[in-house]
Amino acid sequence: MNPAIIGGGYAGMAAAVALAERGISVTVFESARQLGGRARGIVLQDTQLDNGQHLLLGCYRQTLRLIEQVGGNLEQDFLRLPLQLDLHGEFSLKAPRLPAPLHLLVALLGAQGLPFGARLNAIRFMLALSRTNFRLTHDMTVAELLAQHGQNAGLTQKLWEPLCIAALNTPICKASARVLLNVLRDALTQSRADSDMLLPRVDFTTLFPQRAARYIEQRGGKVLVTCGAESLRPLESGMEITTEQGAEKFSHIICAAPPAVAAKLLRPIAALESLVAQIETLQHQPIYTVYLQYPAHVRLPHPMLGLHQRYSQWLFDKGQIAGQHGLLAAVISAEGIHQELSQEHLAQKVIAELREEFGIAELPEWFRIIAEKRATFTCAPGLHRPSQQTPLPGLLLAGDYTAGDYPATLEGAVLSGLRCAELVQFHHQ
Ligand SMILES: Cc1cc2nc3c(=O)[nH]c(=O)nc-3n(C[C@H](O)[C@H](O)[C@H](O)COP(=O)(O)OP(=O)(O)OC[C@H]3O[C@@H](n4cnc5c(N)ncnc54)[C@H](O)[C@@H]3O)c2cc1C
Repeated sequence: MNPAIIGGGYAGMAAAVALAERGISVTVFESARQLGGRARGIVLQDTQLDNGQHLLLGCYRQTLRLIEQVGGNLEQDFLRLPLQLDLHGEFSLKAPRLPAPLHLLVALLGAQGLPFGARLNAIRFMLALSRTNFRLTHDMTVAELLAQHGQNAGLTQKLWEPLCIAALNTPICKASARVLLNVLRDALTQSRADSDMLLPRVDFTTLFPQRAARYIEQRGGKVLVTCGAESLRPLESGMEITTEQGAEKFSHIICAAPPAVAAKLLRPIAALESLVAQIETLQHQPIYTVYLQYPAHVRLPHPMLGLHQRYSQWLFDKGQIAGQHGLLAAVISAEGIHQELSQEHLAQKVIAELREEFGIAELPEWFRIIAEKRATFTCAPGLHRPSQQTPLPGLLLAGDYTAGDYPATLEGAVLSGLRCAELVQFHHQ
């Protein structure tokens, strides 16, 4: 068996590690110069950054397990914070050291910035969800679910909306309640550590894909960068990939490229017409990250905090997280009015917000905006996501957009890759 993987993002590298672990020699084709895809390290102004600030949750079990498997050390690689939400001066909630889900209920009860009635209402909502094990008989938007459970405007704007946008990167009026509940169930109901927030101290290429490449190569596999797949062809047994270097035959192909590329590669294959149509129905949401380098003494009150009704939704102090003093990142997730501004204008808005909220009077030495226009798929209710299995036995699909419980996240991507690795092995038996 000689499977190939197209795409060295988190999904593709997870599949490759799982196969390499079982002694199967894999070949990874990655079109870019470096691995990581939508979670990759970049260098700007001699500073190591990512294409966007990411965070992991404690319940991302498979991603965390794989990072350790390929040589990472979770203690060193992450700043781990217990569940907390701080919308500067407007709302704050911090989970105490109690078992789940008591930690959440006590955190909601003691939250600052909402009247007692609203906090009780949020607790009632959580208890109602836990009675159905966070499952819905039919999907609906998050806004509809919140209205059904009497969550008022204050609660929605300060608690549920920021949570939904952070988790699903989709506005509440478009977001799937079922998928949000999947994340809440996994993060909040089993162990307190599941709701921890893990902020990486190393860049996202180093964190997993780079280490994974070494792990794969040590087990006889190959990881080829700047070597994109140009076309695919089903064979009587297996599949053929054409790259710049020519055509090569493989027993299986796991296509872990982003949805638009997967659709393009699969379109010429007649048997995949309806699968391609399914992939093409997916819509996308952006994530903007504004990096600002201030003098080294500038710091925020916490490593991560939110702002209420501002352009900057979440702010990260890279000094406190990764020792990059004075470097701040403002994250703006999902579609919104910020997309109408020029990059210069948006950066000026963020600088003004930092001045008004925290009294940061200095100007940054430099700023850069990274606008990922197709950061994630729009996680809408009842979305029919393509399965990892395709009508061709030698072709599998991995990626955060393929079928699964999770929205477009690292864990969703990794789970899809692991599923493909299992299917490759299963076909072979
Ligand atoms: C700015 C931003 C912030 C985010 N924040 C978070 C967060 O905080 N937490 C979280 O869990 N998730 C977050 N996400 C989502 C997360 O990054 C993605 O869900 C995940 O990285 C997707 O991985 P993937 O492997 O499915 O796809 P991708 O990362 O898109 O990987 C696909 C790979 O295929 C390669 N490729 C493309 N064409 C070809 C070809 N022809 N041949 C070979 N290779 C090809 C690409 O270069 C890429 O490396 C964020 C995403 C962005 C953009």
